[in-house]
Amino acid sequence: MDARITPMHARVHQPCAACRMLRRRCDINCSLAPYFPIEEIDKFAGVHRVFGASNVIKMIQMVEETRREDAVKSIVYEATARIRDPVYGSTAAIFHLQKMIEELRSQLETIKSQVLELQQHRDELQGILMNNVHSLDLFSDMHDPMFGESSKVQEDTVWDLEPRDERRQERI
Ligand SMILES: [Zn+2]
Repeated sequence: MDARITPMHARVHQPCAACRMLRRRCDINCSLAPYFPIEEIDKFAGVHRVFGASNVIKMIQMVEETRREDAVKSIVYEATARIRDPVYGSTAAIFHLQKMIEELRSQLETIKSQVLELQQHRDELQGILMNNVHSLDLFSDMHDPMFGESSKVQEDTVWDLEPRDERRQERI
């Protein structure tokens, strides 16, 4: 029956992008239909141009069914890259990304050593600060009325020292 006079039939068996481009009959067993719907005709045009339709079918059939979608994504990516850069294809992108990784790795090393330097600087400053706080505490203790007893002890100590000084003077 002619599809032109049975529009319902034509809608059910709408050809995929691959079959439309290859001008062949598309049915429910078409291995390309799940990956190349009619709305994405440019996607198939790219892979057909780079690899050829029969190679694309072979490559898809080599992969187990659960991984075919990923395989098609890779094929489409490689075809797009190869059209953009006929010499290097996707390796140009790989080189570029590897260079970026190297640059970022060296930046990371620089930042790590800066962090280490800053941590050392912070520790030094904390040390100085702690010494200053300690000195201030001693200074305030000496002038704090609460420490009257301790100043008395100091006075006693002075008195205690005096006889020794005298003894020393006697020896001289
Ligand atoms: Zn098809």
